[in-house]
Amino acid sequence: MLKKALDSRTKTLGEEIIGLRGVRKTFPGGVLALDGVDLHVRQDEVLVIIGPSGSGKSTLLRCINGLEEIDAGEVTVDGLVLSERTRDAIRREVGMVFQSFNLFPHLTAVGNIMLAPRLVRRWSRRQTDEEAARLLDRVGLSGLGGRYPHQLSGGQQQRVAIARALAMRPRIMLFDEATSALDPEMIGEVLEVMKELALEGMSMVVVTHEMGFAREVGDRIALMDAGRIVEQALPESFFEDPRHERTRAFLSQIL
Ligand code: ADP
Ligand code: MG
Repeated sequence: MLKKALDSRTKTLGEEIIGLRGVRKTFPGGVLALDGVDLHVRQDEVLVIIGPSGSGKSTLLRCINGLEEIDAGEVTVDGLVLSERTRDAIRREVGMVFQSFNLFPHLTAVGNIMLAPRLVRRWSRRQTDEEAARLLDRVGLSGLGGRYPHQLSGGQQQRVAIARALAMRPRIMLFDEATSALDPEMIGEVLEVMKELALEGMSMVVVTHEMGFAREVGDRIALMDAGRIVEQALPESFFEDPRHERTRAFLSQIL
């Protein structure tokens, strides 16, 4: 059912929700992590970014929600130009999920999920309990809200991390190798949650090595290399008929 809905690709994409124009980022020591990146993501779109280690994928995601300052260029999120003034507002619109789940070990699943809404939105206990139950259900963890991270599997912890990001009701979700730290048998359950989010129309930028997911769920695939977007295309042409030698070389290594 899920797969069928995705396969039909009848999705109509909305307005631009993320825009990067000429974005450069150099780290102390002189590493040029982003070398003039132009990238646009539209509402409801799932952009999958692949590329070798060190090519700038994480830095790119971190620049979108203002975790890194850029040296040149411009980032816009949902119509706002990212700056010191807009950064907090933009962060509330953007949820991020990392390779390491980073859950607070002394808080239960519900405690982790509702921490930010309690602080930022000042919701009552009853409101947050209802919302947490809804979010746990959404990531397939109904009934496990009282567990602490060490009482959950890696896949379950990562799904709590996704629920925690969703708790702020973001309009955009960024995933940075969300399944890379998981045992193989747990990867599927996390990808399934991501796939459902995509189907519900969430705008997403997904850095991943899971080519099956990229192909099935991605609306567009981009290859990064040495701080640049080398190629971007619809999944079929990206995988079947890559234009650039760099893309062919990368695909031949991983497929
Ligand atoms: P990827 O996620 O594609 O593996 P990154 O965005 O993590 O790549 O890194 C891009 C480049 O920037 C790499 O050369 C990396 O070593 C460098 N880099 C990333 N973060 C930092 C940092 N905080 N300080 C210095 N160099 C960094
Ligand atoms: Mg990375």
